[in-house]
Amino acid sequence: MAGGVFDLAIIGGGINGCGIARDAAGRGWSVFLCDRADLGSGTSSASTKLIHGGLRYLEQYEFRLVREALKERELLWGIAPHIIWPLRFVLPHHRGLRPAWLLRFGLFLYDHLGGRKRLPPTRTLNLQSDPAGAMLKPAFTRGFAYSDCWVEDSRLVVLNARDAADRGGTIAPRTACVSAERVDGLWSLTLQDVAAGTTRTIRARALVNAAGPRVAEVAGSVVRANVPAPIRLVQGSHVVVRKLYDHDAAYIFQNADGRILFLIPYERDFTLIGTTDQDYAGDPSDVRISRGEIDYLCRSTAEYLRQPVTPDQVVWSYSGVRPLFDDGSSTPQQATRDYVLKLDAPCGAPALLTVFGGKITTYRRLAETALSMLRPHLPPAARQQPGWTARTPLPGGDFPMQGFAALIASAAVRYPFMPPATLRRLFRAYGTCAEMIIGGATDFAGLGCVPGADLTEAELRYLIRVEWARTAEDVVWRRSKLGLRLTPAEIASIDTTMQHLIQDGPTAA
Ligand SMILES: Cc1cc2nc3c(=O)[nH]c(=O)nc-3n(C[C@H](O)[C@H](O)[C@H](O)COP(=O)(O)OP(=O)(O)OC[C@H]3O[C@@H](n4cnc5c(N)ncnc54)[C@H](O)[C@@H]3O)c2cc1C
Repeated sequence: MAGGVFDLAIIGGGINGCGIARDAAGRGWSVFLCDRADLGSGTSSASTKLIHGGLRYLEQYEFRLVREALKERELLWGIAPHIIWPLRFVLPHHRGLRPAWLLRFGLFLYDHLGGRKRLPPTRTLNLQSDPAGAMLKPAFTRGFAYSDCWVEDSRLVVLNARDAADRGGTIAPRTACVSAERVDGLWSLTLQDVAAGTTRTIRARALVNAAGPRVAEVAGSVVRANVPAPIRLVQGSHVVVRKLYDHDAAYIFQNADGRILFLIPYERDFTLIGTTDQDYAGDPSDVRISRGEIDYLCRSTAEYLRQPVTPDQVVWSYSGVRPLFDDGSSTPQQATRDYVLKLDAPCGAPALLTVFGGKITTYRRLAETALSMLRPHLPPAARQQPGWTARTPLPGGDFPMQGFAALIASAAVRYPFMPPATLRRLFRAYGTCAEMIIGGATDFAGLGCVPGADLTEAELRYLIRVEWARTAEDVVWRRSKLGLRLTPAEIASIDTTMQHLIQDGPTAA
């Protein structure tokens, strides 16, 4: 950082802000990123967690978006094979809805638009004999199986932030940007430490507003630049129930109202069901699933399943707000899922880039586009060339994309004392960085005990030191999903342990 001035300041530590921070830091620009809460605590931890082209966007002629997103699938799987993996989807043919030829045509395009190499192609299914048909009503005799990928969304965010920090970036969670103004040819940002209430100022040559559902609010009352912020907030909710079936494919159901419903194997013992699509007008931090949405999601399963899901089966739910670019569509589900980037740099004034929309799937391409727009407003980049993020693994992802089984097998030999399910969970979450948690332990007790699930003190220390975790909620709902297996008393106890660990020593990197 030259003269105490960052090249780039970013407001928002969701996937888009962290993706831009990683790319910029790797190219040699000095980067500052702040988030008013925990990293990934906004929309980026509330998604359906699919790296997908979006089959249904083909019907809306969003070919650019679908093509770009399809191309990203294998590429992201390659740089983060611990937290991203292939997922097969079963699409039953519903006689009253889209005809089979249309589904087959859409899936043909889906298979061929995006340079698929390793993901298996679409296959026609006889649901009367295929195990995937067993839980469907007998009327569903035919279907298709196609490929997309699964992602641990909030972990993708934190790994991008970690990599940005490892490349020299400054990451400041729990730090709100309360004002940003152009002063003497630079951006001057006033930042508030959310816990302490104290403020400080930093300066930067260029600014990115990646505040997700708060993008309009930040544009209007924080940045106060005269940039139009056409944003449409659309709520989407999911419910989690105990595992409904034993195979590892997901289902995609078409609803008569034009929406689609996913049933996805989740966290080994659960099934994830989502999502809804409804306009949202409240504070994004207050978004909660409504009784009506729970009923809608459960009711929708009744069309397809022999044994429909009922609201009393729901063990957990979550809700998020899509920050969509407002293209004037009549219904929330028709609003474009593509991203729009607006650059404001009047008469040589320091540049402001505002991010609208986008998907987890396209965050890396969004970051590349953002930096190509900002490049003329930044000093010459000293390190990596554009495109480097497509080839360089995220932390812990430095093993072959189809090498997870081999990674686990060799870890089991090195750490015979680790319970197999715990070893698998750690390597899925942290990849090769799991070694930093297990370290030199020679027995499981050496990792230190924490009441609840299989969380250890060693993992907590790692999360505090390396991944900016500060509360039990950060750990059990974002760095992991262990909250599904913990009681409120256990979560409270983890919080207490964390506060002791933070006071005693391990500091965030
Ligand atoms: C229900 C649902 C399902 C989805 N499913 C998928 C899917 O399967 N696949 C896919 O690719 N995409 C999916 N998406 C879309 C995807 O989740 C979002 O597009 C993406 O997460 C948006 O990321 P973001 O970084 O723009 O916003 P966010 O993740 O919301 O990040 C914005 C951040 O800005 C911070 N912030 C706000 N104001 C300030 C301030 N003044 N100072 C500092 N920080 C501030 C917030 O705290 C927040 O963390 C889904 C979205 C929803 C809602």
